[in-house]
Amino acid sequence: MSAETIAKAAYIVAALLFILSLAGLSKHETSKQGIVFGIAGMAIALAATIGYATRDVAAVAVVLLVIAVIIGAGIGLWRARVVEMTGMPELIALLHSFVGLAAVLVGWDGYYAVEAKGGAQVEVAQNLLRIHHAEVFIGVFIGAVTFTGSIVAFLKLSARIKSAPLMLPGKNALNLGALAAFVALTVVFVIHPSLGLLVAVTAVALALGWHLVASIGGGDMPVVVSMLNSYSGWAAAASGFLLNNNLLIVTGALVGSSGAYLSYIMCQAMNRSFISVIAGGFGIEAKTGDETDYGEHREINAEDTADLLREASSVIITPGYGMAVAQAQYPVADLTRKLRERGVDVRFGIHPVAGRLPGHMNVLLAEAKVPYDIVLEMDEINDDFPETSVVLVIGANDTVNPAATDEPGSPIAGMPVLHVWEAENVIVFKRSMAAGYAGVQNPLFFRDNSQMLFGDAKARVEDILRAL
Ligand code: NDP
Repeated sequence: MSAETIAKAAYIVAALLFILSLAGLSKHETSKQGIVFGIAGMAIALAATIGYATRDVAAVAVVLLVIAVIIGAGIGLWRARVVEMTGMPELIALLHSFVGLAAVLVGWDGYYAVEAKGGAQVEVAQNLLRIHHAEVFIGVFIGAVTFTGSIVAFLKLSARIKSAPLMLPGKNALNLGALAAFVALTVVFVIHPSLGLLVAVTAVALALGWHLVASIGGGDMPVVVSMLNSYSGWAAAASGFLLNNNLLIVTGALVGSSGAYLSYIMCQAMNRSFISVIAGGFGIEAKTGDETDYGEHREINAEDTADLLREASSVIITPGYGMAVAQAQYPVADLTRKLRERGVDVRFGIHPVAGRLPGHMNVLLAEAKVPYDIVLEMDEINDDFPETSVVLVIGANDTVNPAATDEPGSPIAGMPVLHVWEAENVIVFKRSMAAGYAGVQNPLFFRDNSQMLFGDAKARVEDILRAL
């Protein structure tokens, strides 16, 4: 059997393992198995690619490749071990930027291997040359948009730059202009490839990626993160065409389409237009949170909260990003156990974009061994708040903000939220009166049935446990 046949067979096995991995990851119960399939697929893919690609290259090249793989794997293992759950979204955004950069480099390499040599002396059949030109150009474009877009997402998610949308005058015209320029440049490049055009498309795409993500504000970032995941898949698929690697094409398409579908689901959950968000907030007008005076807020301490919980017949806990920051999931799980032992009906209400990445709260609660059957999605629990004695809002803010339903002028207007304010009592755990990720004031804190329990969420839940 030739080396090529073995590599192709290995690629098919790896592709199947990646599909099984995605299927496994879609449910709590099978997610670990999904990860094992993914690791196995990637190990086979790497072994086959390295074995096949190095079959007739100099020994020094093989040594360099192995060193690069060892260094990369070392850094990957180290980062994965030390990253906090709260740092995952920005790590993922950064990793997407590497995929984008790799696609740009592969595209430029393709240009130097074929187009720069006039295309005559190289292996590419003359009739396929134009397709090669298009592959180089499109791959560089998608890769560069992904690269800068992911860097901006990383900066926003890690709070190194503000999450508010950048509102350049004529921002939609800028985006459309960049797309039109890309189409025009592609046509010219396919007819007359030149270095100048490649430089131009790289510059346009880098600027477009930056602007697209910078224009998307606070509450819409979850969609952007999954959209960049999708773009990174298409960038990998484009590289697969250039490198003539079927596995890269299949894997890229899997990532690209699953990321696009996730973006679509998140847009539905947030009542946002998919097209508008992927087009960099196309058609969304700048709205600023107004300075409405909502009155005074009330405070409560841990002992009084414990008293309220002792009297309660039903409790709903709505966690958010602050629970992740405080790592409060373990005492929250203990509190749940204790209350359930006393016969209190305790359930969790999970907003689809609570935290900083899809499924963030579910992962934390699973880690702390909270039973899955009491962890409900927003739609499953939203009608039950009026019959609930106490709601504990643990480090959530935007996802429980009544302004989304009551104030049409709010930047988060129209986003479905957990109707916690309909319960008898609402206790909000946070450290200050500061706004959440979207930077919008939350009128919930000033409602008559709401009380603020200030301090680190973990410390406060532990205080309640002691008082109970
Ligand atoms: P928010 O980001 O709206 O609010 C979190 C709150 O937690 C803050 O108001 C903060 O208040 C509080 N907090 C922080 N640290 C602590 C601590 N140690 N102890 C107690 N409280 C703390 O959270 P939500 O989960 O409600 O909303 C998620 C937001 O993130 C949405 O706007 C969503 O669009 C966005 N987003 C979501 C992504 C996803 O995929 N899920 C991805 C990117 C963005 P204080 O500082 O006063 O303590």
